Amino acid sequence: MARKKFVAGNWKMNTTIDEAKALAKGVVETVGNVTDVDIAVCPPFTNLLAVAEILKGSSVKLGAQDVHWEAKGAYTGKVSCSMLKSVGVTYVIVGHSEQRQYFHETDETVNKKVKAVLASELLPIICIGETLDERKSGQMDSVIERQVKGAFSGIEASDVTKCTIAYEPVWAIGTGETATPQQANEAHIFIRKIIEKLYDKEIAASLRIQYGGSMKPENAKELLAQSDVDGGLIGGASLKASDFAGIVNPV
Ligand code: PEP
Repeated sequence: MARKKFVAGNWKMNTTIDEAKALAKGVVETVGNVTDVDIAVCPPFTNLLAVAEILKGSSVKLGAQDVHWEAKGAYTGKVSCSMLKSVGVTYVIVGHSEQRQYFHETDETVNKKVKAVLASELLPIICIGETLDERKSGQMDSVIERQVKGAFSGIEASDVTKCTIAYEPVWAIGTGETATPQQANEAHIFIRKIIEKLYDKEIAASLRIQYGGSMKPENAKELLAQSDVDGGLIGGASLKASDFAGIVNPV
């Protein structure tokens, strides 16, 4: 099955309200009419509503960088799925390596978030990926398998293709170090095999797997040309509209 490419920008903890508006305008001007690639931007919570206004009428969708799995209540500092929906969010990044590294995200909390996101009819972008130590010590496959199985535990077959997996080797995030297109593709094929074992061939063939880790206009074309790389989750290069556009439309 042909999988439509999906490129999402993760703005992380960057952009004041004015900066976010300017960046969103730049994204709409450069790729707002693109329809052969799915596109999303994921600003910080404080800028979601303002960016939603700017994206209106364009093909660019709004994403959030995280969510809490509970519906409401005494969870100071957290934001729920219904809150995200109410400001126009479509996608939610879950399990980013920075959440895993700095904010106690575990496979279990990732799974709770995936379930909450799907129950709210939002679409999760589930981040997985090994650290450099894990890769060097030969644990890459077992780490990826554990993360995928953890994220999809209890997820119905009918919900799987509403998810996107972002394979983000931690050693490539924000480091300027990119997985080679072959390394990325091998990891994506491996992830697809895990999904096939958990569900079936058709579901595995339909699920989109983005690559993330220092993707930029200069390396996007080759990465996106790989058989199993279905798009990108872009950090640093998503903060400049022309760079982001250069990844959506690589030359
Ligand atoms: C990310 O944080 O999801 C990411 C891929 O970052 P960068 O593109 O900056 O490596």
